Amino acid sequence: MTNKKDWDLETLLIHSGRTTLSALPTGTPTVQPIHASTTYLYDSVEALDKAFEGTTPEGEPAFVYARHGNPSTNTFEEAMTTAEGGAGAVSFGSGMAAIHAAILAAGVTPGAKILASKDLYGATIGLFQKVFAPQGVTIVLKDLCTPDVAEVIEEEEPDIIFVETISNPLVKLVDLDAISTAARAIGAVTIVDSTFTTPFLVRPIEHGFDLVVHSTTKYIGGHGDSTGGIVVSATNALLSQVRNYAIILGAILSPFETHLMTRGLRTLALRMERQSQNAARIAEFLQQHPAVAHVYYPGLSEHPHHELANRLLRPGLYGGLLSFDLKEQTREAAFRFMDSLQLCLPATTLGDVFTLVTYPPISSHRTQTKRELQELGISEGCIRLSAGIEHCDDILQDLEQALG
Ligand SMILES: *Cc1c(COP(=O)(O)O)cnc(C)c1O
Repeated sequence: MTNKKDWDLETLLIHSGRTTLSALPTGTPTVQPIHASTTYLYDSVEALDKAFEGTTPEGEPAFVYARHGNPSTNTFEEAMTTAEGGAGAVSFGSGMAAIHAAILAAGVTPGAKILASKDLYGATIGLFQKVFAPQGVTIVLKDLCTPDVAEVIEEEEPDIIFVETISNPLVKLVDLDAISTAARAIGAVTIVDSTFTTPFLVRPIEHGFDLVVHSTTKYIGGHGDSTGGIVVSATNALLSQVRNYAIILGAILSPFETHLMTRGLRTLALRMERQSQNAARIAEFLQQHPAVAHVYYPGLSEHPHHELANRLLRPGLYGGLLSFDLKEQTREAAFRFMDSLQLCLPATTLGDVFTLVTYPPISSHRTQTKRELQELGISEGCIRLSAGIEHCDDILQDLEQALG
């Protein structure tokens, strides 16, 4: 067997979730079974006592109770740790649960200040404002996609910085290196939601970030059939904090969902490659369409963060998400367009194998007022598209007829 350490990320992902059981008399399954057991037995109480500390007498991971960890989630967490180049990972029942635990693990206390991108995912802003603000945490929302982000951080002196690799729906990028450097200078903990990019496009820990979170409901699960989240930590100290909060909060990933997440990981590279290629073709097509006023996609040379994308993302790939403004910038036109689609699904999620189209003002940005949407630069004719893995000609044909 070749040394795993030398394998490319694509090979590692494909072989994640291979069984960790030792050979069975009946033959060893190539794919790890689903470990549904809530509790685990040991030969002696002494061994059980040791297992509570997390290891067997031989130093292997040991399990006592499912909420503390089990072989299924452990495998998924190890695969994500390798994929992100972290010290360890903890899985959760949803992306929001992962974000909640990451903020707590970062050491948020009354009087602390969280500096976050103003165009974060709506529910994340909701978590900050509805859960942390009433506890005496100051929430500062700023444009962190600007070239002078270091000055903003210096000025605000936050305790925690929270950004997304690529924003929704206008697909703006943040300069991970500039943010982590400025954060380190003031001792702030950095957290990035890398849901839109996954470790296949960028590995934020290599850019100095402390915690990487994902809604694995999206690209990592990838098939629109399971909900989950994960926090990958750059350090052991933060990792044990995340684990402690996972155990206390109890928002764990079920072994059944974990099985689907690990299966998703095996095809992540193939899917993201195809989704990125499809998105690039769709962006070019829309750019030339008379019914479209503007296209937002980091792969387009006129996108303000095209150069930044070239520096941060896997060469030649810019992700599967794009947005565009209909020339007729009204809600009615957006609804008419979406109701006319025959292949692309008008559904609210992203990162699935299907091409998905949403109207942000009624979904991800539902709680924002018209004025707030305007300030974010989201027009009334804005449509977000998550490219699937269908044959691109079919997607383009559907868009063409619906735009017509
Ligand atoms: C979907 C999403 C979340 C929330 O994840 P859930 O799995 O729905 O809880 C967080 N951040 C981003 C960027 C997302 O797209």
